[in-house]
Amino acid sequence: MRWEGAADLSWMKQTRILMRARGLEEHWTSPELCVGQSKEEWRDLVYEKVEEHHERVREQDCESMTSVSRYRYVKCWEKMDADRAVMTGEVSIRGSLVVERYLDDVKDRMGSRLKLMCRAGCLPVMSRVVWELGLSARHGRCPLCSTGETESLEHMMLRCPIHQAHRSKMMAHVGAVYATSNDNGEFEAGTEEAQMHVLLGARAGAKEAEDVIDVQVKRFLVKAWKARRYVGRVVNRKFDRMDVVWSKDWDRRSPDHTSEAEADGNDDSARTTAQRSSPDRLSKGVAPPGVEQRAPRLTRSTVEIARASAPARGARRRLFD
Ligand SMILES: [Zn+2]
Repeated sequence: MRWEGAADLSWMKQTRILMRARGLEEHWTSPELCVGQSKEEWRDLVYEKVEEHHERVREQDCESMTSVSRYRYVKCWEKMDADRAVMTGEVSIRGSLVVERYLDDVKDRMGSRLKLMCRAGCLPVMSRVVWELGLSARHGRCPLCSTGETESLEHMMLRCPIHQAHRSKMMAHVGAVYATSNDNGEFEAGTEEAQMHVLLGARAGAKEAEDVIDVQVKRFLVKAWKARRYVGRVVNRKFDRMDVVWSKDWDRRSPDHTSEAEADGNDDSARTTAQRSSPDRLSKGVAPPGVEQRAPRLTRSTVEIARASAPARGARRRLFD
């Protein structure tokens, strides 16, 4: 056919290449397939094929990315149903194109932020901090409890005894709504990973159940982050980091102003704006200038700072033992 030998910029040639790549070539070779279709039907068919292609690309890309191994199952990639859609325009739109409902929450902004970081796998628990700083994993032990476990996200949400009281409340609500929407299925009978998926926003049977779980998980995360705020402040101070730290008026401040020093009420005016926004400070996995890539050797002044800011709880003691 003449178009096969046309210039590369020929719209006919490029259109057929695109249709072939998206599985629509038979509509080119057999135009009668299009004759009975309305403009809207053809548009919907093209959208469907294009989105299917990009879903396959996404799945292939995610398979090799260990950092999103959990997120693949937490995020719903299916088409949005009418019950869960916030706006009618979202109905039948693929999950990858829809903003998650939990991000619309303006009442619990810190909870939303912590949940987002949990879903992205970048909440600065100790396991994440030592990984980013290139330190030995043994420095990632939970500073709050005496179990000796690494403070991972799972440890904080499912196992750490320090958070048990808040966890029990969360699990009671989550278990109840999960059973209601899953034929009396027992939430805590699932594997830890399956529980993490549901807690972080995976489909749980019904929109109402998912909304209750969302509220409870955010509440737990804020409580847990509050319990370890002294740890966050010391880590920020010691390693010149800007990890999010719970503070009473967090949501009335700019995120850039939630450094541990200000949360302490400490005068830290020597820090310049340039220092706060230095790319080195914000880049992942790169220790700030002056921090050695080896086990931290805590100075006396750091310990004194921690003692001045932390109550007589296990947090400060175990962090520096
Ligand atoms: Zn612990």
